[in-house]
Amino acid sequence: MTLSTSELQRYARHLNLPEVGLAGQEKIKQAKVLCIGAGGLGSPAITYLTAAGIGELGIIDNDVVETSNLQRQTIHNHAAIGQAKVLSAARWVKANNPNVNITTYQQRLTADNALNIIPYYDIIIDGTDNFSSRYLINDACFFAGKPNIQASIYRFEGQLSVFAASDGPCYRCLFPEIPSADAMPSCAEGGVLGVLPGLLGVMQATEALKLIVGCGEPLINRMLTVNTLNMAFKTLITRKNPLCNLCGDNPTITILEEIMQNCENTLSEHNIDVATLRTSLANNPKLNIIDVREPFELLETGQIGEAINIPLNTLPESLDKINKDEYYIVYCRSGGRSGRAVEFLRAEGYHCKNLSGGMIAWSA
Ligand SMILES: [Zn+2]
Repeated sequence: MTLSTSELQRYARHLNLPEVGLAGQEKIKQAKVLCIGAGGLGSPAITYLTAAGIGELGIIDNDVVETSNLQRQTIHNHAAIGQAKVLSAARWVKANNPNVNITTYQQRLTADNALNIIPYYDIIIDGTDNFSSRYLINDACFFAGKPNIQASIYRFEGQLSVFAASDGPCYRCLFPEIPSADAMPSCAEGGVLGVLPGLLGVMQATEALKLIVGCGEPLINRMLTVNTLNMAFKTLITRKNPLCNLCGDNPTITILEEIMQNCENTLSEHNIDVATLRTSLANNPKLNIIDVREPFELLETGQIGEAINIPLNTLPESLDKINKDEYYIVYCRSGGRSGRAVEFLRAEGYHCKNLSGGMIAWSA
């Protein structure tokens, strides 16, 4: 594989580094990296991997851009509110480096699809924000034999390590059991300093480039902790646990399974608030909206946008009115019936969110 004249110009500062050079840049061009999550961590990771000239970049995310994302998810902009994150991210990648081949997966990583997607890539970047995904990615990377560059963030602090490499521990070696759902609040509840995922995501991209080029010492058998309040960076030694249920001497986990945490956090991911919907509608007046109230209720209050009316009890036989490739907001009077509708539609493979508080909140 050779680099074109324009690529030689673009990557000149890499070519000047003896640790990278032409051979290293060619490795970067051949590399396939999967970013799981195009949010706070994914934004900077995707940004710098794109700039570095990664040959193939995969991005998986089933979410849409919301107003509250923009404080830290810098790959998305105001005009993208209401759009799929993978499409917004892909647009950024294409505009910034036409040499990068991008594949988007507008879906959630699950036990059913993880081993169809992950093995294709050389390196996995975990930019997710919940424990279910973190354990799933760890296990899938172990089964597929792919290094998992994992970062997590909380308020002002973060941590980073490379798991499931052949010569290091997996995430379960350090944290054998998934914590209870309420042990760690999500970003939405706990809050996060906007630049924190920026720092950690850039370091995930750094580790990826080091692994690809083969320079330096990757964060295998080590975990970096970052505290932005006192700017303390510490490196902890980690090691493989021979008793690990996944990668130890007598594993009990032999097939990929997802540990679902039944908690408010995961449910709230499927909600959208009135302010975000208002901005989404301003950007896209044709936004797909489903009103699951009964027809007589519409007469009193009118509808939001150009909503289509599918009363909740007729939803199962009305699926031909909905497109699996598109994104929908679902509402009712107060959010209860539409919550059930969203649960049903998501289980059927549709992309949708529930308007919190329904028509009452909208009218208010
Ligand atoms: Zn392990």
